[in-house]
Amino acid sequence: MTQSAATDFDTSLVWFRRDLRLYDHAALYQALRKSKAVFCVFVFDKAILNGLPAEDRRVAFIHASLLELDAELRKAGSALIVLHDDAVSAIPRLASRLGARAVFANRDYEPGAKERDAQVTCALEAQGQQLISFKDQVIFETDEVLSLAGKPFSVFTPYKRAWLKKLLPEPGWHSDDLLSYPVDQHADRFARLPFSVTARVPSLDEIGFKTPVAIGTDFSAGMASATKSLDAFAARIAAYDHDRDFPAIDGTSRLSVHLRFGTLSIRAAVRRAVELMRTGEGANGAATWLSELIWREFFSMIMHHHPHVATQAFKPEYDRITWEGGETAERLFHAWCHGQTGYPLVDAAMLQLNRTGFMHNRLRMLTASFLVKDLGTDWRWGERYFAEKLIDFDLASNNGGWQWVASSGCDAQPYFRIFNPVTQSQRFDPDGTFIRRYLPALKKLDAREIHAPWLLSSSRLQDAGICLDRDYPAPLIDHAQARQRTLERYAVVKSSS
Ligand code: FAD
Repeated sequence: MTQSAATDFDTSLVWFRRDLRLYDHAALYQALRKSKAVFCVFVFDKAILNGLPAEDRRVAFIHASLLELDAELRKAGSALIVLHDDAVSAIPRLASRLGARAVFANRDYEPGAKERDAQVTCALEAQGQQLISFKDQVIFETDEVLSLAGKPFSVFTPYKRAWLKKLLPEPGWHSDDLLSYPVDQHADRFARLPFSVTARVPSLDEIGFKTPVAIGTDFSAGMASATKSLDAFAARIAAYDHDRDFPAIDGTSRLSVHLRFGTLSIRAAVRRAVELMRTGEGANGAATWLSELIWREFFSMIMHHHPHVATQAFKPEYDRITWEGGETAERLFHAWCHGQTGYPLVDAAMLQLNRTGFMHNRLRMLTASFLVKDLGTDWRWGERYFAEKLIDFDLASNNGGWQWVASSGCDAQPYFRIFNPVTQSQRFDPDGTFIRRYLPALKKLDAREIHAPWLLSSSRLQDAGICLDRDYPAPLIDHAQARQRTLERYAVVKSSS
């Protein structure tokens, strides 16, 4: 394992952020190895919480995961310190109080997190302490996978090839980047808290959130649950290649939230994929799944090298597009957000998001495409909505996904490729099973009818108990006309694409 510091410390503090687990944890492993006594802290950062809705699933997920962390630390004779404060001032203050000369943390690559960490580093250094950071959230970070010319990639396929070559340079062998960090080797170094420090995980109410908040029917928080989900997914990975595109099937891992908050170690996930690829059982499924995990790293790398993508198009010429505006755009956007577009699969997908905090990948692509290329709305509106609702919201992956769909990102789909919401529905929800799950008003329509109810005769609609615009909306727009408008809208970038 690589190390950033060779010094030993009497006392250290481990600052948990998006790594809420006690196994295979780079910063925790190094702190325990290098220190006689280790304290653990998590900060509900007011700078972040203040902008969130009261019933935020992410906060509930974090909260439940912290309860598990705290319970495990108590078994080791310690406890988790949980603060509700501004991290920038709270971490240096706590480090001083505990006499910790070093704060250990895993690196976070989001622009806001980097800024926060720079400020914490300054404040700690002013007190004669230090922030020591480690790679943990990804297998390869920032500049570790570069082209032969030494430049960051902006196209996925060659990035993936280089990434795989670095990880698995020879048959049967893998790089050290996949090794686990065995935290339990020094578990006796977790420190008992001094009386002056309160260790109690505050309730959601105490930090200004509604309790209880349903995390969502499909997710349970915490590292034990993440490991269970990974095991369950590994047993059906052979079908991933085929099933992953069908939202009615439980075909994907649903591990994104665990990877987001680090209740699952990315090394554990990749190790499992590599093992399954090598045993031959489910090898194709495992290879495809690994490829998805590489997309996650690709977008993280893009966000690091091109932080402007957080607010602007990766390809600047796409910021010349004129999006719809005014009241009409607001009305269309509102209908999209609330699953009222009149296109059943788009609407069912938005209801899945609103009710569970999750949306299937195929549907993220479809709904995003519908907003941008059917309704002519600026992709940033949709990106913000997803950011507010997704339990697995990750700035880099969300931004990468939206810019891919809007064609403005690196290695995005060509601007003239526009999803047809009806044929997508016929292809990926052929029986209408997913649609019926969220739109019971359409439950009496058969597999041929359910994808475009407005095409049915009024007597057939009546038989099925549907009155358009009363029980289910008529379509907001005509797709063929919208497609034409989009091609015209995108003409400003045509010459440079
Ligand atoms: P699986 O199919 O099991 O994939 C395994 C893991 O690979 C995922 O958990 C995720 O960590 C990663 N992954 C898969 N696909 C992608 C991808 N296209 N880009 C980056 N990572 C990927 N993913 C997020 O984690 N957070 C987001 O905020 C997010 N926003 C998105 C917005 C749009 C418009 C689009 C098109 C995609 C977005 N994705 C996002 C990617 C993808 O949709 C989700 O990661 C996936 O649906 C999560 O389900 P899963 O864990 O079952 O995925």
